[in-house]
Amino acid sequence: MSSATATHCPYCALQCGMNLVSEGDLITVAARPDFPTNKGGLCQKGWTSADLIAHPDRLTSPWIRDRKGGELRPCEWDEALDRIVTEIRLAQQKYGLDSIGIFGGGGLTNEKAYMLGKFARVALRTPNIDYNGRFCMSSAAAAGIKAFGIDRGLPFPLEDIPGAETILLIGSNPAETMPPIMQYFEEHRSRGGNLIVADPRRTPTAQNAAVFLQLTPGTDGALANGLLHIAMADGLLDHDFIEARTTGFDAVRRTVASYWPDRVERITGVPVKDLTKAAHLMGEAATAMVLTARGAEQQSKGVENVQAFINLALALGKAGKPHCGYGCLTGQGNGQGGREHGQKADQLPGYRKIDNPAHRAYIAGVWGVDEATIPGPGRSAYELLDTLGTPGGVRALMVAASNVVVSAPRASHIEERLDALDFLLVSDIFLSETAARADVVLPVTQWAEEEGTMTNLEGRVLLRRRASEPPEGVRSDAQILKALADRLGAGQYFTERPREIFEELRRASAGGAADYAGVTYERIAAQNGVFWPCPSEDHPGTPRMFLDKFATEDGRAKFHPVAHREVAEAPDDEYPLYLTTGRVMAQYQSGTQTRRVEKLRANAPEAFVEIHPSLARRFGIADGDMVRLATRRGAAEAKARLTTSIRQDTIFVPFHWAGKGRANLLTNPALDPTSRMPEFKICAVQIAKL
Ligand code: SF4
Repeated sequence: MSSATATHCPYCALQCGMNLVSEGDLITVAARPDFPTNKGGLCQKGWTSADLIAHPDRLTSPWIRDRKGGELRPCEWDEALDRIVTEIRLAQQKYGLDSIGIFGGGGLTNEKAYMLGKFARVALRTPNIDYNGRFCMSSAAAAGIKAFGIDRGLPFPLEDIPGAETILLIGSNPAETMPPIMQYFEEHRSRGGNLIVADPRRTPTAQNAAVFLQLTPGTDGALANGLLHIAMADGLLDHDFIEARTTGFDAVRRTVASYWPDRVERITGVPVKDLTKAAHLMGEAATAMVLTARGAEQQSKGVENVQAFINLALALGKAGKPHCGYGCLTGQGNGQGGREHGQKADQLPGYRKIDNPAHRAYIAGVWGVDEATIPGPGRSAYELLDTLGTPGGVRALMVAASNVVVSAPRASHIEERLDALDFLLVSDIFLSETAARADVVLPVTQWAEEEGTMTNLEGRVLLRRRASEPPEGVRSDAQILKALADRLGAGQYFTERPREIFEELRRASAGGAADYAGVTYERIAAQNGVFWPCPSEDHPGTPRMFLDKFATEDGRAKFHPVAHREVAEAPDDEYPLYLTTGRVMAQYQSGTQTRRVEKLRANAPEAFVEIHPSLARRFGIADGDMVRLATRRGAAEAKARLTTSIRQDTIFVPFHWAGKGRANLLTNPALDPTSRMPEFKICAVQIAKL
């Protein structure tokens, strides 16, 4: 007898629907064609995801290190939990409440993200909680809030994509990062739509582009200004839309006036004829979309980059209408939900602001605590990691579902900071590179073994269902937080049951920007997901936002002038090339899961260095040679892969691996002043054949 459980892929923000089919002990993945976003399609990661379930590397008991420098040994749960609470109390007594930190993950369910945020503020009373989503889409989120008053990755459903006449995709490679989404782009193309792709690499996504803009890394904002300049000069602006639905265009007009095409060609390296063609394809289309991803966002000016592209969409009247708008293709599985429910240093549930007295009072009421006891804003993800173990910094850190040793910039520095902690706790399903440095490691349930909600890149709230019993000895993050809260004397504020947590989350989000009040598990199941905002159970949810008004106080979208700024670290004589990083199809994020799946490992076994043949010749490098990359922060080694698809001044390394090929040994933690996003995407590098 077999049974099928309808659920979702454990990996990226597309959150493809899938069935997990159980036959005895065997669980396999089957298509779920009725699910509307992926319509049965899955990428290789999704098809092989069941290999994670009974994986021999699973952690099945807590591990503990008796002293710094000692070995990890297995232990009982009570010993591990008692040790954690003892270490928390010690650090709090010695250094104060804010000496405890939490680093969460964008793969956690909404329930866990909510509980983690509440645990930090209520059980630990520390402001220092942030998560790896800060490294993902925080620049787009900040720009969206500035322009539209709200941040939802895509303010329209995926099904609107084919109906846009022109799509401008910046720094995004969905053909490799989320292949099932390409069915929307293929339909767009078959309807005669035009795709414009801006990227330093001619990625598989760019192969079918009508215009490919191979820009110099870090010149995205100048590119947007250049396109808008041409649109202004050539009479392509939508003055009625600007007048009726926006504010602030005059300042943008003045700024953009100096981005004449040949200046923009000099800055971006994109020929004027391509700039002109792209501007006209956007401006002359009746409908158009602008979509960004990490290429434009993971920069020390990521917010400005996104604002510049939002300016373009607004000035052309391509927002707040069907088949139009700006959107961000979010990366992590619950990157969207993970930032809505209080896991971020500056936010409370429902996308409320932690420094807003009314927001604080509302959440204090839901939690049943005194508002004065809720701490204020804490340190952002990199700043939290950067100050670990320092005077005034966090001394005891809890990490959940995150592998910062591989995923954070300037990784060797992060290792040093982790080792300087008085105490490190890591909860994970495998012994990740970060868990291997911990004082206590807790084994947790994974996606197929738990119930909960996720929110995909469209803002569609989805139901993750339990298809498999967790191994003996494993507990859910919620059970762990509840047990710790009990030991810390705050157990009365917490439950470990996902449905009860979600009911509280609904109340906490009610009236906030990300309003889940009308979302129930039953509605999600019946409707294949519910789009927020959904303020009541009789509200249909909101697939398309901004059709009548934007979410700003006056209902108008806001222009923000953006001037081009240099990257934080430009190439020079010593480090003469640009380095950029990204993903490959068969791996996901820090690789904690996907590096352990045999078929994925066979397809993408190790890091590599993508380099143009002309550049390789200059350095005497042949295809397959081992090369050494060095930046001001560290060095990495990997095999060269020669390709004409990359710019001749740029090197690309995917970031999924540990060991010598760890890309983040090289990357620059220069932060965006608003989003606190590190500049993962650009730094200066030197290369040599080994
Ligand atoms: Fe999973 Fe993303 Fe692949 Fe879909 S595209 S199967 S969600 S990894």
